Amino acid sequence: MKKKFGRSRIINSILDGLFDLGIFSIPRQINPHLLTVLNYHRIVDSSVNDFHTFKPNVSASPETFALQMDYVKKHYNAIPVKHLAAWLRGERPLPSRAAIITFDDGYFDNLKYAYPVLKERGLTAIIFLATNYMGSNLPFYWDYAAYCICHTDKERVRLPSGMDVSWTDSVSRDRAVNQWVWSVKYLPQDEKLRAMDDLSKDLGVAVPSNAFVGLYLTWDQVRELSSVGIEFGAHTSSHPILTRASLSQVENELSVSKGRVQEETGKPALSFAYPNGGASDFSPEVVKLVQKTGFELAFTLMPGPTSYRSVKKSPLTIRRIYVGQSSTLPRFAAKLAGIEKVADFFQPTSGMSRY
Ligand SMILES: [Zn+2]
Repeated sequence: MKKKFGRSRIINSILDGLFDLGIFSIPRQINPHLLTVLNYHRIVDSSVNDFHTFKPNVSASPETFALQMDYVKKHYNAIPVKHLAAWLRGERPLPSRAAIITFDDGYFDNLKYAYPVLKERGLTAIIFLATNYMGSNLPFYWDYAAYCICHTDKERVRLPSGMDVSWTDSVSRDRAVNQWVWSVKYLPQDEKLRAMDDLSKDLGVAVPSNAFVGLYLTWDQVRELSSVGIEFGAHTSSHPILTRASLSQVENELSVSKGRVQEETGKPALSFAYPNGGASDFSPEVVKLVQKTGFELAFTLMPGPTSYRSVKKSPLTIRRIYVGQSSTLPRFAAKLAGIEKVADFFQPTSGMSRY
């Protein structure tokens, strides 16, 4: 543990040095025709005592997010997704060093904390909504798990595999939340719902019906953000891993979420973000259905920037750079430069941290 901490500090020092030398600006100077798409989930301070939802879904505190947006504004040309779609149709040029800021899932803190930071800097963003959760008290399974594990008197939880995980402090308890979430992530939707039910019973936690009120955006808040230029895309209706669902279920998830975003905002939903977004979370069949549903653009969570040429060739599998809570500014700059392996040396962008 001590050794790992020491090595981590060394890597951070190296990243700090490379950042100060401006090394991370070299890739975009050599090739300014790279599209950099950032992916965030929540912008909030998760260090407060009563934080009882899923911590790994927090991408940055409002202060860190502001520093990151200063960096984006200074070094990139942030554009809305509709400009990218217009460029693909041949209707307008794309600036060099184009960047797009995206948020997944649809948390209320995107309005409360992220939007003021964006507005102050004249930046825009797109939020991909899992439409069943907007304006409902229905929690995502990861927030439900965190709530139950934070509110139980017990000090162990049974995973759906039958394995027990115990904890002794808040750090090991957070780890147990993560393990439970990981253990259900790839289950079919009905088994996931059953596992949520079993979890609260196992831990003896009665989850009040208002436990998650205010956590996600309501449709009125979506319209409020839409009226000030924030774009919205679809992220399915119930947030399944699409390669674990039948193709007819995928078709339904895509068309329902696209229709709902359009109906509620009164604007076309041009783009889609794959839940989880890793290489095994979408397939050629899924991509075909995304196209068939009428999406012009779709975003994965395969790391790194995408060349303009690749965006033109494959607009339904555009890469995004996952921003996690551990991103210091040099680490953030390294990720944006596509030097993902160095940036993630100690906090890998794994399936554990994508939602
Ligand atoms: Zn998601």
